[in-house]
Amino acid sequence: MNKLTLQEVDVKGKRILVRVDFNVPMQDGKVTDDTRIRAALPTIKYLVEEEAKVILITHLGRPKGQYKEELKLDPVAQRLADVLHMQVGKVNGVVGEAVKQAVDQLKPGEVLLLENVRFEPGEKANDAEFAAQLAELADIYVNDAFGTAHRAHASTAGVAKHLTAAAGFLMEKEIEAMGQALTDPQHPFSAILGGAKVSDKIGVINNLLNKVDALIIGGGMANTFLQAQGLDMADSLVEKEKLEAARVIMQQAEKQGVKLLLPVDVVVAEEVSADSSHKTVAVDQVPAGWKAVDIGDSTVQLFTEQIRQSRTIIWNGPMGVFEMEPFAGGTNALARAMAEVEGTTIVGGGDSVAAVEKTGVASQLTHISTGGGASLEFLEGKELPGIAALTDK
Ligand code: ADP
Ligand code: MG
Repeated sequence: MNKLTLQEVDVKGKRILVRVDFNVPMQDGKVTDDTRIRAALPTIKYLVEEEAKVILITHLGRPKGQYKEELKLDPVAQRLADVLHMQVGKVNGVVGEAVKQAVDQLKPGEVLLLENVRFEPGEKANDAEFAAQLAELADIYVNDAFGTAHRAHASTAGVAKHLTAAAGFLMEKEIEAMGQALTDPQHPFSAILGGAKVSDKIGVINNLLNKVDALIIGGGMANTFLQAQGLDMADSLVEKEKLEAARVIMQQAEKQGVKLLLPVDVVVAEEVSADSSHKTVAVDQVPAGWKAVDIGDSTVQLFTEQIRQSRTIIWNGPMGVFEMEPFAGGTNALARAMAEVEGTTIVGGGDSVAAVEKTGVASQLTHISTGGGASLEFLEGKELPGIAALTDK
């Protein structure tokens, strides 16, 4: 890792501004899922034990630079206190006199949560003045919010210009796990790509094509590849304007000796609805008016064989409309196959992670990325502003 990490800075007695991603789902003023809060606990607990003065900053929802009563962070502070088993202070602002005073009163080992940073218009604008004000609150900056690392905002990028800036433990784990797979993978290295659209994933495909031994394509985007090969996918989701791009990718794979696996059979339905009639057909037998909504059993077998041979696997994008039970079979089967692989297994992407967690095998995989959009951009090989802004070693 070429960026400074939390372990490498002396934090004792210092004011540490930690950007966390506590953008948690809420309902009726209560946190309904605290996964993201728990994901930041290693960093927060370490800082408490090292007797740092911990100042946490996060966004919640989309208040668009305005104060929004329902997006205040008091319930988040409460939940953090519950899982930390200690008191967590909370101020009603992000910068300004009241915040400075609260920070001044912090004792070593205490934790303070600032108000929703997106109440401030300077956050998304990455306003230089606002970033400088944030920096004044602390001696050292730590970024543990991988999920927002693809955004160049004041609390993720701007503030880091003014302070020593280190990666928190969660951030470090994300960069190490995915970075290792992309730069120095154990072979055979396979990527499984799915999800709705080719257009969302072209960047990921192109980056991974240069690195993998096998590319497995399923989900909605496989339809565009199959149609590009001359098959008739009937009413399936096909991106006509991406047929040429799909052809280019297939040629490129062949040229580079990358094994490209596409579905050989699919589950088709008359409607994308859980109670629709459905059946499994060969990819050249999709009936007029029907839609491919999952990969079929023969495809599961074909893909599973490739998965079993692999030592590194990166998965992004479900194999079908997994939100509906009848069309979740392919995604579930591949998740289970991946769980049995002894090498490195990584899942990134919002829906992919949700799918794997639903399958119940998440704990058997090497790394489940906490960032949806951020992990996609990482897999595209892009430099994420929140990582780029950290202090170089
Ligand atoms: P991720 O969030 O992991 O990056 P995507 O957002 O790209 O994944 O894709 C997930 C979506 O793709 C899901 O909502 C799923 O229903 C949809 N999807 C998968 N297969 C198909 C298909 N055959 N037809 C239509 N939609 C599909
Ligand atoms: Mg998604």
